[in-house]
Order: sequence, then structure tokens, then C-alpha cells
Amino acid sequence: MTEPSGTAGTDFIRQIIAADKASGKHDGRVVTRFPPEPNGYLHIGHVMSICLNFGIARENNGCCYLRFDDTNPAKEDQDFVDSIMADVSWLGFDWQDQLTHASDYFAAIHDCAVKLIEDGKAYVDSLSADEIRAHRGTLTEPGVDSPHRDRPIAENLDLFRRMRDGEFADGACVLRAKIDMAAPNMNLRDPTLYRIRKLVHQRTGDAWSMYPMYDFAHTISDALEGITHSLCTLEFEDHRPLYEWILDNLELPSRPRQIEFSRLNVAYGITSKRKLAALIDKGLVTGWDDPRMPTVAGMRRRGYTAQSLQTFVRNAGVTKKDKLIEMGALENCVREDLNECAPRVFAVLDPLKVVLTNYPEGQMERLTAANHPNLPDMGSREIPFTREIYIERDDFMEDPPRKFFRLRPGGEVRLRYAYIIKCVDVIKDAAGNVTEVHCTIDPESKSGKPGAERKVKGTIHWVSAAESIGVEVRLFDRMFTVANPDAERDGKAFTDFLNPDSLTIAPDCRIEPGLAAAAPGTRVQFERLGYFVVDIRDAAPGRPVFNRIVTLRDSWAKLERAQLAQI
Ligand code: ATP
Ligand code: MG
Repeated sequence: MTEPSGTAGTDFIRQIIAADKASGKHDGRVVTRFPPEPNGYLHIGHVMSICLNFGIARENNGCCYLRFDDTNPAKEDQDFVDSIMADVSWLGFDWQDQLTHASDYFAAIHDCAVKLIEDGKAYVDSLSADEIRAHRGTLTEPGVDSPHRDRPIAENLDLFRRMRDGEFADGACVLRAKIDMAAPNMNLRDPTLYRIRKLVHQRTGDAWSMYPMYDFAHTISDALEGITHSLCTLEFEDHRPLYEWILDNLELPSRPRQIEFSRLNVAYGITSKRKLAALIDKGLVTGWDDPRMPTVAGMRRRGYTAQSLQTFVRNAGVTKKDKLIEMGALENCVREDLNECAPRVFAVLDPLKVVLTNYPEGQMERLTAANHPNLPDMGSREIPFTREIYIERDDFMEDPPRKFFRLRPGGEVRLRYAYIIKCVDVIKDAAGNVTEVHCTIDPESKSGKPGAERKVKGTIHWVSAAESIGVEVRLFDRMFTVANPDAERDGKAFTDFLNPDSLTIAPDCRIEPGLAAAAPGTRVQFERLGYFVVDIRDAAPGRPVFNRIVTLRDSWAKLERAQLAQI
């Protein structure tokens, strides 16, 4: 088992941190933070950021803050806050006492704004949003100064106080940093620091009628918390000069360093909260925890383990290059983890009845089956064997090709942990569909009986007809039919590429009776079929619903590689 240390290994960020520690920068401390905006559930991309930030803190005996970026009350919600905390904990990380909110610092951030105004480094602009945009210039042309740029300090202080006191309507004015309207970096063209938003905030209520912009709030929060390394995704690279300008122009208790890394994207999935929310709003999935969603809640419900997610992001690495990683890589991590720990059981997804004509009616044997083929410590269980059993419909073929080693008319197959059976008759309905197969058992061929291990080519799984339990099993497939649904294609929306077969319900599956009491969240391997988990939401006592976590082999690998090669 690997240490649950996030994205451990060495990468350019860990190298910077090791060098900083060695040189005594930040007094050798390492303090990081994960700063989600509570406007949706966390997804696989966030897992990378969580493992990186919490992992680095853990490896360096430092600490990592979980800080909610709650600067936009319009989009934020307590349900999102709760889900984020649940997800970070489930992933195996602990923020201890370091649970904060940008809103904890609203007063301090306000004071920073006042200080900038007093120093002549910020001003209240009364231009409309459209006018501000028009004055901003373009990448090739400098911006134009606002007519309000040189307002006297006293007037700015008065206007800012009145913004705070709710005297102005939304959009009437903003507070801007006074930097440089001709700066090649657009983020330095007098960026907005505060805007008026007459909204009730989930934590501060109606105390504020203006809210700080993300860049301003985030930089000051980092400095107030003593963050040493502020790790963020590459889209913030262009914001770094502003981050540094804010640090340079305020007297803050510490000086964090911002370092950017590339986002993690997973093929056949999407990692944008806005797009994930759109799937929910349009009713295309059942919710944030739909097992097809690449959200932490969805993947947890799907049965993925926290360990496999950690392994996946560690393998993905930390770089500055854009990444689109194959979904198959994630599934392989899940498979490898579950192979070690999931007990084996029998289930039949598409049952075909087999009557064992020479087996006495009413007789039942309890046969011993191993819970794991290679791990004897996992023990064994008893499974009931009776005259009528179910096998998988596709384990029988009336007219099979030459290399078909399962059941065929006149052919033999071994029932795993039981007997060799021979097909003697095939029963069909009026339409010619096979409804039942009649077999005889070879009583001398019982598994485990000394000298009885006569070999036949095929071995199949089965369950007793009378003693098994009927359950619903949900089979999931890729959510999208193309590797990068996000990419622009002939004006089509990403929802045009949803896989119509991403969910198949198998309503009449049969499971061995011992599984009836399996608790929600229990993960098992259905032998020969894949890994499955008892759904945590829909399962009723005594009648579990199973989700397929992942198949035993990767049937998509070839197609996926071909598609990725074209991108
Ligand atoms: P989204 O685009 O899904 O809304 P976001 O970046 O706006 O994502 P935040 O809640 O602001 O979401 O993200 C919290 C942290 O997670 C940020 O530091 C962000 O850089 C990081 N993060 C978000 N998406 C990814 C990703 N795909 N890969 C790596 N880190 C990510
Ligand atoms: Mg964001």
C-alpha cells in the first residue's frame, strides 16, 4: 500500500518548497491552502489540488487551510460548503483548526482597501461596467484613464464609505486599484477591488453591501493566514503580477509566493462546475452525486476508493503542461485497489435457468467458496447449491463458434466451486428463444473432492434459483462519446456528446443470499463481471441496489487511445 500522501514524489513545486526550506525562507515553514468557491461540488480536478496542497503540508509537517472563497454571495450555498468538507475528509485529509472563509477577513480586507485609498493607490470609479470595459483597451492597445482616476483622496474615502453604507445601487461605482492603464498585462489596468452587491451573504448576512473581488480577497487572505506557497492553476499566471502588487503595496504580516500548475482534465469527462451544474439543471443526470459524474460525491457513490483517486492524481503528476488524462488510467487505479481488497461473490446479471435433471428435488448442499483467490486470509463462505440454478445467458450458446468453451448442447462446463455439468436439452418458447437449459451433473466431479478435479475447458459462475435474491444492478459507461466534449465542434454544445448508453439498468439480477444484508457502500467483485458497490442512496434493507464500479478489463482502452491521438 502506498502512503496516502497526496501527490508525493518530486515535481517542480515540491522542489521549490524543498529549496525554500533548505534556505530558511519563511522560517522553514510550509503552509498551503485549498480555496474552493462553494458554488458547486468538488470534481476530479479539485482532487488534484486537494492532494497537492494537503499532501505537501503533510509531507513537510506543515498545515493546510481549507478556505472557502465566499466572496460572491449570489452563487454560494451551504449545501456546497457541507459537501466540500465531506469530500475533503473522505479523501483522507484533515484541515484540523484551519477551516476559514474569505468572509472571516471582510473587515481586514476593507481596511486594506481604505489604506490603498489613503495612499493614493485606489479610487472610486463611477463609470458603468460597459464604460470601464470600453476604457480597458485591448491586448494590442493601451487602455484609457477613467475621468475619475484622479479624484482627491478625501472624496474617494467618502465615496467608499458610502459604498459600504449601502448608499449606492449595484453597479453605480466600484473601487479600483490605481496601477497602470497602459500595462501590457490587462490584469494591471486598474483592476476592480470592490463592487456593490446588495445581497444577503450566507455568513455575514446583510452586514456588507459591497464585496471584494477574488484577486484582492485571495491575496490578503493568503497573507493573513501566513500561507507560504499559494498553489493555483495556470489561468492565474497572468494574475500573479496583481497578486504581487497587492503584497507590495500593503503592510501584511507575511509574503506568500504564488506558484501555478496545469489543470487536470480527464478524457470523456468534464471538469467545470458550471457545466456539471448545467447537466443537473437540464435533468440529464440525477444530481451532483450521480454515479456517472466526475464529482467526488459521484465517484464515491460509484464505488471508487479514496486511495485510488490519490494514486491517480499522483500518477498524473504536477506540471505546467496541459493534461487530458485517459479515463482508463483512473479506472485502472480503481481496479488495482479493489483487486486487493474486494471479496469475490457470485451474481448473475442476465439469468438463464438451468435445471439439473439428475439432482434430487428439494436437496440443498452448502458449497465452500473462497472470498479471494490469492488471499486465503480473506476466508471463505458457503453458497447454496440446488437443482435449479441460474447462469449468465451469454455463457450458453446453442450454435457456438469453435472456440466457445462455455455451455453448449451436448457440451460440458464446470460450475465454479461445484460440479461439471453437461447440457442435455434446450427448452424454447414459441418465438424460438431459449427459456431453460437442462443439464446433468457429474456427481464424481465435485470441486475440492480428492481425485475429482477432472478438467474441462470452461468454468462459469452461477447462483441457486431458489436461494438467490433478485436485485437491480446499474451499469455505467462513459458519460460522453468523445474524449474532449469541451472542445468547440461545429457550434455543438458539450451536451450533444452525452453517451445515451451511459446508464443501463439490469432489473432482474440474482445475487447469492449472503449479500442481502450487505451495507450501503460495500464493495465486492462479482466474479467474471466486474467490481460492484451497494448504492448508498437507493438501497433498501434486505434488497440492495448495486452500481458497477468498473469492469474487470478495460474495453475502452483502444478506442480511447485512438481518439486521444487525434486531439
Ligand atoms: P471550476 O472551473 O470547476 O469552477 P474553479 O477553479 O473555479 O473550478 P474553485 O472552487 O475556485 O473552482 O477551485 C478551487 C481550487 O481548485 C483552485 O485552487 C483551483 O485552481 C483548483 N482546481 C480547480 N479545477 C482544477 C483542475 N481541473 N485541476 C487542478 N486544480 C483545479
Ligand atoms: Mg475559481
